[in-house]
This record gives sequence, C-alpha cells and structure tokens, in this order.
Amino acid sequence: MTDEPDYRIPAGGGVPWRDLSVEERHRPAERDIEITNIETMAIAGNFTWGIVKIETDADVYGIGETFRAESALDMAERLIVDLEGENPLDIDRLLELMNQRYTGSGRIGQSAFTGIEIALWDIKGKVLDVPVYELLGGKYRDEVKIYCDTHGGESLGQASSGDPREVYTPESYAQAAREVVDEGFEALKFDLDVHTHRDVDTAARRLDNEAISHKVSLVEAVREEIGYEIDLGMDLHWNFTTETARRIGRELEPYDLAWLEDPVPPAQVDAHARLTDALDTPILTGENVVTASDFNDYASAGAMDIAAPDVNKCGGLWELGKIATVCDLYGISLAPHNISGPIGTVAGAHVSATIPNFLALEYHARDVPWWDDLARRTDAPDDPILDAGYVDLPEGPGLGVEIDPDVAGEHLTDGSELIV
Ligand SMILES: [Mg+2]
Repeated sequence: MTDEPDYRIPAGGGVPWRDLSVEERHRPAERDIEITNIETMAIAGNFTWGIVKIETDADVYGIGETFRAESALDMAERLIVDLEGENPLDIDRLLELMNQRYTGSGRIGQSAFTGIEIALWDIKGKVLDVPVYELLGGKYRDEVKIYCDTHGGESLGQASSGDPREVYTPESYAQAAREVVDEGFEALKFDLDVHTHRDVDTAARRLDNEAISHKVSLVEAVREEIGYEIDLGMDLHWNFTTETARRIGRELEPYDLAWLEDPVPPAQVDAHARLTDALDTPILTGENVVTASDFNDYASAGAMDIAAPDVNKCGGLWELGKIATVCDLYGISLAPHNISGPIGTVAGAHVSATIPNFLALEYHARDVPWWDDLARRTDAPDDPILDAGYVDLPEGPGLGVEIDPDVAGEHLTDGSELIV
C-alpha cells in the first residue's frame, strides 16, 4: 500500500481515467518525431502575454500563448517531464494526459495546457505544411470579425482622481466609440461597471437609480454617436446582484445591445439563467468557464445567450471547438474572450474560422501601439494581422505567424529571456 493519491479519479466529474501509456506507436519517419524541450517568455503588453515554445528533434518548433502568464508559464515549462519524448502530433492524447495527471490544477493548469496545445497545433501545421484552421476542420469564413474592447475616460474602471462622473462622461464614451468605428471595427464593447458614484457600497453589489441612470447615459451617448448597425456590448465584470443587474438590463433594452456581459458572479448559474430569461438583451458569459463539460452546465440551464470561452485558457483550440459544438446544440453563439497578444489572437482566429456559430473574437490591445509589430505573417510579412476590424486568416503553415525577436526583446518582463 502507498499513501500516494489516486490521480486516476477525475476531480470534478468529466470523463473517466484512461490508460494513455502506449509503449510503441508507428508512424512514417517524417512524422515520427519527439518533443525535446519547452521554453517560455513573458511579454509586457497591457496584460502579461505568455509565450510557450515547444521544440522537437525534427527541424520544427511550435509557438503558443497562454493566459495568466506569471503562473501558467512556470507550470508549462515543468510539463516537460510529462511530454519529453512524446510525439507532438498526438495533440488530443497529450491534452488528456495532462488533464489526468494534473486534474486538480484548476485554471492555472488549463492555461498552461492551452498554451502548450496551441504550440502543438503550430508544430502539426508546419509538419503537414497546412494552416491550423485546416487541421481544425476547415473554414466557414476567410475573415474573422474582431470586436474591439474600448474605453471611455480612463481604462480599467478606476478614475484616479477627481469626480469619476467627470471622467466617465457620455462624451468620452461617444468619442472613443467614434474613433474605434472610424478605424473600421463593426463591433465593440465598453466596460459599464466603472465606479462613478463614490457613495455606492460596492461590496454590496447594489446600485441606486441615480448610478444606474449614469450608466444609461453612457450607452445612450454611444448609440447616438455610432447608430444601431454596430454590434455594441457592455461588460459588467460580475459586479452586481441579480436585482441590480436586472434593473440595469431593463433600462438598457431600448439600445439594442449585442450583449450584456458577466452581470453577476461567475459561479451563479441560476442567477445567469434568471437574467437570461428576464431580459431581451442577450446575456454573454464564460470567460472564466473552462472545458466543454462546464459550458454544458451553463447552456443546459439556460444561463447564457452567447458564450465567451477564453482562447488562451479554456483548454485549447480543440476544446474551444467542442465548446462551440455543445453551444450549437442549444442555439448559443460564441464571442471568444481574448486579451492576448498577436499569437493568441491568431490562434483564436484559426479556431473561430472553423466554428459555424461564431459572432466575433475579442481584441483587447488597442492601447498597445506595437501589438501588430510583435508578430509577422509568414505568407505576407508586410500585411498587418488585424486590419479594419478583421483578421484575414494567415495561409502560412501552422499558425502562419512568427514573433519578431527585436520587438519581443524590447518588451520582455523583468527576468524573462528571449526564446525566439
Ligand atoms: Mg469580460
């Protein structure tokens, strides 16, 4: 007998344990390759963008991006003890292997697995000389619609000084919306949970009518500026009670929002369901939900109209495709959450092209002027990755983009070393 915990038992339901240890696997020589090394680096964007590089014993490596870089990169590097010697083309089996061995690793684990999984798709595409979207099932569309995360006043929702009502003004929201639409975006989103009334008890998650009226004035100003043909989302970042979220939502019904995002705390599936039922405005949620199994819990409970799995932590591109399939069974579309740099965004574009029930993919780096310089398309090095609100799918093998070492080198976080 040993005191070792039995890792064969999944932590939270899911599929039963499988024996994934195969002594020998046969492939032709050109595809008989092995993982030899995992390296990472962290880029200081508006978030920390975690880059994962997987090397092989063939003349090919893969690049991926992970969410929660500070913790997930450390875990991703350590996973070499599990992946060294494995064939990188066995993507689904290797994901299953990591999930089984680290079944209690939560969102950090899922982020690490996702960064690795994206790098494995990059390798596979390069080995087979096709873009990743071909491997994920082929495409429904050539260009992937991007929605732009937009900030009026000051970003991150906290006015630094003065009366926040003079920072988060209707004029500031309207002006930011105008700029983004003029750049070519046909979909955008604002934070609507900005703290504008300092006498509000934020811990209580309730707003009075005056605070709600201010939020309505922000949305009204944006609609007056850009009209009703632009998809407009509003994000509440889980900050409200169900009754306050419902009161906000009812006041916003006349403005035909594309969605109201994360109105109540993420674990409150029943509260999401009641709001989805009570409001005509679509409820979007899911950036903190990982794996198709957990999305099925929300979808089957009627707790979302639009799903927002995070490209870089939901469990991988293959998992995101499974999430899309589950959602499609319930008539739910996908607007994947994405706060990553160009590598993660291109990965998101590849999978977004392959799912039928797609709405738009997030872009959250309008404030980072070198975002597009950090990576180059291998099929058209002079063309931008993101152009006028769309990503035109790269046709180079794998993800079809490579990191510019000079730009990456200028923006590494403290202690991080260049790996490309
Ligand atoms: Mg959000």
